[in-house]
Amino acid sequence: MTEQAVTFYRPDRGGRAPTLNSPEYVQLSTAAAITLGLMPGKMHRVDCTHCLNLLVTYPEGCRANCAYCGLARHREEERDFNARNFIRVDWPTARYDEIIQRVRAGGDKGRFQRMCISMITHPRSGADTLTLLDRWVQALPHIPVSILSNPTTMEREDLAELKRHGAEIFTIALDAATPAVFERTRGATVSSPHDWEHYWRAIGWAAEVFGPERFGVHLIAGLGETERELLEAVQRIKDLGGHSHLFGFFPERGSLMESWPAVDAGHWRRVQLGRFLIDFAGGRLEGMSFDDEGRVVDFGGEDKALAALVQSGKPFRTSGCPGSDDPEVSACNRPYGDSMPSDIRSYPFPLDNGDLKNVGGQLSKKY
Ligand code: SF4
Repeated sequence: MTEQAVTFYRPDRGGRAPTLNSPEYVQLSTAAAITLGLMPGKMHRVDCTHCLNLLVTYPEGCRANCAYCGLARHREEERDFNARNFIRVDWPTARYDEIIQRVRAGGDKGRFQRMCISMITHPRSGADTLTLLDRWVQALPHIPVSILSNPTTMEREDLAELKRHGAEIFTIALDAATPAVFERTRGATVSSPHDWEHYWRAIGWAAEVFGPERFGVHLIAGLGETERELLEAVQRIKDLGGHSHLFGFFPERGSLMESWPAVDAGHWRRVQLGRFLIDFAGGRLEGMSFDDEGRVVDFGGEDKALAALVQSGKPFRTSGCPGSDDPEVSACNRPYGDSMPSDIRSYPFPLDNGDLKNVGGQLSKKY
């Protein structure tokens, strides 16, 4: 294999070009850069990601100000956009065409089963995402594309256009499970432009335009919602035909919520299990019981079947868009995007007996 040279900028090495704009440039996750051989490095117990996560990039960055996010606008005087950490890791920058050439040349060793373009709140994000999508579909049609959208700058026709141009799955980072949490973390309270009603309108468009199993909604556990509230959102999304992609809250360095505690382990494991039951195992919110604090006390169904599901480990793996091997396992494994390797929240690999013991202890922990 002849590897293509890639023009590559690493924030940890102070590397940057005078102007780094999409669609000429994109940022990619550290895990994707390691998988593609652009960066040396070893990840704890996992050697690759199966999803090439890309992020559109502009010097002025995201114009929103979400309280938990490392890319938020309030950091613009502190760091260049392409040097800000996002879901705990750095996102180096590279020329998009060179990334495509490298994947075409086999630089990922056939490990990418999906590509994902993450939009941000920026006036050029929509048009540039379409350009990136077109180039990818033309060059690498066998690797399906997901779009992590920015509903605030989008209308229904924008979704239809992305589908016409070849996007396979459309996702929406709702992140907050309730209107109050949404407003406090993403709305006017933190000088951010997002609107709960519009996000749900966009979820409805995604259901209509992309159809069942072809749209997903990100939810972050640990922003102040109860387990019941989070699982209500999961059930609502499932009833529309979609899946939920869960993230455990972890205080992002430099964000407005950097001093908040990470999601409680018991809360997290229970919503992971509840989410998997609803999305993939025929469970329903109405079959579950909750205490006065909204914590799950009974998942419904047979104990034996529930125990087998827990033992499979699948509910505790990273959730996201599927790969080509198993529709219940995410291609996008986001290694350590929501925890330290020493206390894993979303497992980016199959769980072993030690992991299952750890999860079992967290699930049964007394409140
Ligand atoms: S819109 Fe997305 S990228 Fe921008 S601040 Fe909010 S969560 Fe971060």
